[in-house]
Amino acid sequence: METIIQAFTGGFDSAPVYSDIAEKLVVSVNNNNAQTVIIGWNPDVSYADAISKLHDLKKDVYLWLPVFSEYGKEAVTALDFSGEKHTQAITAADDDFTFACPHNPVNIKLAASYYDKHFRGYRFDGVFLDKIRFSSFGNGFRSGIGCFCRECLEFYDSEGIDTGTLKELLESKSKEFLAPNTLRGMRYAFENSLIDSFFKARAKLITESVKKVIVMFRERELKIGLDVFAPPFSYWVGQDIDALACIADFIKPMIYRVTDAPAGMPFEQKRMTEELAINGCNIGGVLETLWDTDDLTSGGCFENQLRLLEKMPCRIYSGLEVNKSEICNTDAAYVENTIKAIKESGIAGCVLSWNVLAENCLSLGNCSGGVLQCSQWLQTAHKF
Ligand SMILES: [Zn+2]
Repeated sequence: METIIQAFTGGFDSAPVYSDIAEKLVVSVNNNNAQTVIIGWNPDVSYADAISKLHDLKKDVYLWLPVFSEYGKEAVTALDFSGEKHTQAITAADDDFTFACPHNPVNIKLAASYYDKHFRGYRFDGVFLDKIRFSSFGNGFRSGIGCFCRECLEFYDSEGIDTGTLKELLESKSKEFLAPNTLRGMRYAFENSLIDSFFKARAKLITESVKKVIVMFRERELKIGLDVFAPPFSYWVGQDIDALACIADFIKPMIYRVTDAPAGMPFEQKRMTEELAINGCNIGGVLETLWDTDDLTSGGCFENQLRLLEKMPCRIYSGLEVNKSEICNTDAAYVENTIKAIKESGIAGCVLSWNVLAENCLSLGNCSGGVLQCSQWLQTAHKF
């Protein structure tokens, strides 16, 4: 099993949080026997020393970059089906989870232009593209349905969607048609053919936009990693993992089973269930039935997801929470059980998420009976 470590240095506008990043990453790489490091995206941090030391150890270093969020006023906002701007997710997490339109050419160019402005001088081996999606129901029902700006409406039209009828349907009181009736691989199918075509078009839109972003980074001779939602929730935000796996070097599905914040399965499921319920669609139990489980965050459902993911044409590293905080109740038993399932599956490994530089972070290291054991980092290990 391969291990990737992920390190967060702060957002575009935050002051640098950590000192001695290079030394800390070398310790973390050794503690976790990691092959690759994902780091970003604060532009005021110097990455040269860390990259040089990690290259000496023959490790790949990917720059972590958001794509359709975090760019503030520079981005063109997404609009819901009433023409209103998308609302922000209500969360205790410190990222910005307001999403820009994923089809607007201005937004598609933002990640590469930030890369050129702030990061091109460094010898990164690749980019790890985060937030390649529509808003989820975490941003509210209307935002969770997708973007309805002029460009997106034109795209749906070109896919044969009658957007006028679609809007009328979405305004109707009962919306039971939003509950899928079939699971095909990792894609849901809907009995209502207009809704089914709409969800297909949304996924195609995200894939095409991500492809354009990837082309820009391939031209800069960078490898590509992609951050996507866990399979039960990815299609809802327009992420078709099968299609994305054909254009990336690796994919990290955020199968965060204990995170109560955006992208965390408990958070996304709770918000989806609540938002759909108050808007006329009772989805309680529907996804569980389709995934053949009574709990989407269970070990059994995790194994079902791994069985689908191991068939993907690129390497898959499951995201695994190692940071304990008020929004993430991880512990050694959860980490060890998750690692055990990953080792028994055909996927490449895991990404220790989401910040190995932070305190209260579990690290891997010892192997007992074929299972990696994790241990709590001592506070002193962070102080150097
Ligand atoms: Zn749009």
